[in-house]
Amino acid sequence: MFFDTPVTIKEFQKSFELLTPPAIAWKGDNVGLLIGRENDVIRNIVVALDATMEVAVEAVKKKANLLVTHHPLIFQPLRRITPTSRTGELVLFLTEHKLNLYAAHTNLDSVKWGVNYVLAKTLGLKNISILSPIKESLTKITVFVPHTHVENVAEAMHNAGAGMFTKYDKCSFRGEGIGTFRGMNDANPFLGEVGKLETAKETRLEMLCETWKLAGVISAMLKAHPYEEVAYDVYPLLNENTEYGIGAIGDVESSMSEQKFLRHVKKKLKTPTIRYTPGKGSVRRVAVVGGSGSELIEEALRKGADALVTADLKYHTFQDYNKKIMLVDAGHYETEHIVLPTIAEKIKSIVTAKKSTAKVFITQQTTNSILYYS
Ligand SMILES: [Zn+2]
Repeated sequence: MFFDTPVTIKEFQKSFELLTPPAIAWKGDNVGLLIGRENDVIRNIVVALDATMEVAVEAVKKKANLLVTHHPLIFQPLRRITPTSRTGELVLFLTEHKLNLYAAHTNLDSVKWGVNYVLAKTLGLKNISILSPIKESLTKITVFVPHTHVENVAEAMHNAGAGMFTKYDKCSFRGEGIGTFRGMNDANPFLGEVGKLETAKETRLEMLCETWKLAGVISAMLKAHPYEEVAYDVYPLLNENTEYGIGAIGDVESSMSEQKFLRHVKKKLKTPTIRYTPGKGSVRRVAVVGGSGSELIEEALRKGADALVTADLKYHTFQDYNKKIMLVDAGHYETEHIVLPTIAEKIKSIVTAKKSTAKVFITQQTTNSILYYS
């Protein structure tokens, strides 16, 4: 028999943020629970690219009390919340209808199941990797553990998220050696006697972890470690973190002319019109950045892309890169809304795992404010 288990916004958030950590969002972005109460029990959920009045009304009709959007409704500090602005009117509506609003923005752009990987897969790219991996987000933690407790300590650290990557988990390095110590005064050593120099067979246990998991990993390690005072080192790393980052890059099946590539993009993204500037004539390696991607053009060039599919490009940007790299502006909405089914799927699996009967809907509204006249 299947019982409905109440799931709070806070519990949902904890699971969802393991999949799309807020720590990888760009500085100045505004992600997470923007409006609402984390102790509210979730009824139904609506997923949309944008929070609009039409989406909010639809959510109320669907008896939803959680709206998950890609674009944060509140981005700049609000000086007043009145119906005189679109944001103010919507904030009032959401609060009056007890609708919680949660946003996953640049953190959703930066995960391998997010906007850019979905865009790359929609365009049929192969050998996909992250275009611009995030930097300085990895930490190495080294701890010295008596042989008898290595497995316990390693397990505790792994469970807190250390030594874990997309394709591998439980990654560590272990080297054996001798540790020395002398307990003084009121010490209560796990091994040996106070006042006497002791030696112990220890393992130097090393793991990588994402910096935002570090506090949890250290706390789990200290709990599992038998020593009163634990010797451990934390090293910030300059390595790129290839698990997270903005944009994606890959190859089309076989080299094609730019005109053929444009037809391909138009068809796959169902975009009514495309603005572009030609590159070097043919397209094989393609970079993609859903939404506004002009900041990643240089990175796409460095990585050998023949074309960059993105949106929100300016006249002079097209001019600067004419015949250097094919810039394809396929529309902000068109390059992003394709991620909605994947978000809904991830949320559904969280809700189902928690044995809740809350339903997850993708909005039926098109939230694109840009129309095309031809
Ligand atoms: Zn966007």
